[in-house]
Amino acid sequence: MKALVLEDVEKLRVADIPDPIPDEDGVVIRVMASGVCRSDWHFWVGDTRVPMPLVMGHEFAGVVEATGRRVTRLKRGDRVTVPFTGSEGTCDQCLSGHSHLCDSMLMPGITYPGGYAEYVSVPHADRNVVHLPDAIDFVSASALGCRFMTAFHGLVDRASVAPGEWVVVYGCGGVGLSAVNIASALGARVIAVDINPANLDLARQMGAVHVIDSRAEDPVHAVLDWTHGGAHVAVDALGIAQTCVNAIRSLRKRGRHLQIGMTTRAEAGFIAIPVDDMIKREIQFTTAFGMPAHRFSALLPLVADGTLTPGRMVTRTVSLSEVAGIFEGMKTYSHSGTYVVTEFL
Ligand SMILES: [Zn+2]
Ligand SMILES: [Zn+2]
Repeated sequence: MKALVLEDVEKLRVADIPDPIPDEDGVVIRVMASGVCRSDWHFWVGDTRVPMPLVMGHEFAGVVEATGRRVTRLKRGDRVTVPFTGSEGTCDQCLSGHSHLCDSMLMPGITYPGGYAEYVSVPHADRNVVHLPDAIDFVSASALGCRFMTAFHGLVDRASVAPGEWVVVYGCGGVGLSAVNIASALGARVIAVDINPANLDLARQMGAVHVIDSRAEDPVHAVLDWTHGGAHVAVDALGIAQTCVNAIRSLRKRGRHLQIGMTTRAEAGFIAIPVDDMIKREIQFTTAFGMPAHRFSALLPLVADGTLTPGRMVTRTVSLSEVAGIFEGMKTYSHSGTYVVTEFL
């Protein structure tokens, strides 16, 4: 099969590699759509070390091609997607419903070969593969990827966004636009902040009631103004020091900060935050990482009935050989929207 192989930092090649076969309790999925994600960019650029060579890609949807003999919930021909936070099922986290934090995390494109390929072999398929409603096309399903599901888990399960609240989202790439879409659907009033006017246009389409170009005006002052004292929830969807601190400063007293953007090489995992100010104002700092597979039962009906529109974020479908060029563009944040691989050549 054709696969896009990460051979070294900033070195990607489309190669012919052997077709995978299913484990006894696994399935092989024929990939129909595979999202291009900033997490992959972090691996490509060397911010996050991964074993190489590696077939990346953790946001894919497709059709079950083959099943292992112990698989009971899936059969050949089923339309499916695979949450990137996969699990093995026996650790304390799995047993308490938090399988996305499994002690033996099984991540496609990271701990096993992923979706930048014609086929993927998924282990422990009965627990790690999710059926897609017929109303959800493969591109939309891949756009649920890590971004949409993380934003859903973060806003719904972690930050408990309520109708009528102000939510400000810093950074309108894939995860930021997901947060805009989901928070709007939850009945919140959403303000989107970015430096790219095309991203801000998309944010409006996804439900933002106000947008702020942070190169043209101070976003913190603008948010405090619009919301008469600060947002109830602030999301840093980018993970750089400036957006994280600005998000915290945009909150009203008792506000909740949701960190879903991972840091870049410049921060290397550490960002200084205004702790004393946060204490005096009882600001919460919360995070989200993926979503347990069982929570897809709450997310997928909202996509199937059109309440949530992940497919609208997808600006272009591409081939495997175009991914390296997209990663180059991500260095300067010059790309808006998100890309999905649908051609495996
Ligand atoms: Zn586990
Ligand atoms: Zn991702």
